[in-house]
Amino acid sequence: MLDPNEKNAALKTRNCPICEHVSSTPLPAISRDHWSVEQCDGCTHVYLKNPPGYGALVEEYAWEKTYETEHERRLAESPIAYRLDVATRVRHTAFRKSTADKYTAWFGSGDLLDIGCANANEDYPGFVRYGIEISKELAQNADASMRKQGGYCIHGPGAEAIWKFPKDNFDGIVMFSYLEHEEEPLKVLKGAALALKPDGNIYVRVPNFGSINRKITGRKWVGYRYPDHVNYFTLNDLNAIAQKAGLKVKLLNPIRLPFDDNINALLSRAA
Ligand SMILES: [Zn+2]
Repeated sequence: MLDPNEKNAALKTRNCPICEHVSSTPLPAISRDHWSVEQCDGCTHVYLKNPPGYGALVEEYAWEKTYETEHERRLAESPIAYRLDVATRVRHTAFRKSTADKYTAWFGSGDLLDIGCANANEDYPGFVRYGIEISKELAQNADASMRKQGGYCIHGPGAEAIWKFPKDNFDGIVMFSYLEHEEEPLKVLKGAALALKPDGNIYVRVPNFGSINRKITGRKWVGYRYPDHVNYFTLNDLNAIAQKAGLKVKLLNPIRLPFDDNINALLSRAA
């Protein structure tokens, strides 16, 4: 393993993932180690300027490996707030509508693509499942599960793999806690807009950078994860990037959005 300084030297910086503006202002208060979170001087989107790259994500920063250390770090930094947050999430999970019911409401039935699908070992009635997953091991597991019903999973970065599916193909596309990890979110959304049937929907869930809780908790906010969260979307950011991809946003949590640490939305083709 490289030491952090060597690795830093190898990192490339990127332009704003939404408006492609080159210059940005560093935000040291919410940066960590050598990971520089910056605000676009063009559109004000906040993003990780020097993401580790897909290769590093596959090997070293894959979600299943960082989860444990992030969990420990948050527990050590802010035990009470973090424990409450975990408890809240567990409670929400216990009472929320089942995923199958939601998929039926959002997508009807048919072909369903899950980008960043991880293990994906659950079936949903009425759907043939497809997936994209950057972790090789998880992609293999997902592929084995999806092939039983006639679907399959592509191993690779979303921004590349999405273009391998046919046009006008999917009734539903799921991006659950995915876009905040994606170095090229606009490319993925453009590909998804093309792969979506004209009347299909894309479900997006991302951390809500505009939440009141983010402003109150400062750098302890649950949405920060270094370096695997590379985009920090506000609703304005999500609207802007969707529009560039030819999509429009319908919020699923409009009333409680300011108090919600996540944005939940359905994206569909703009008329
Ligand atoms: Zn920008």
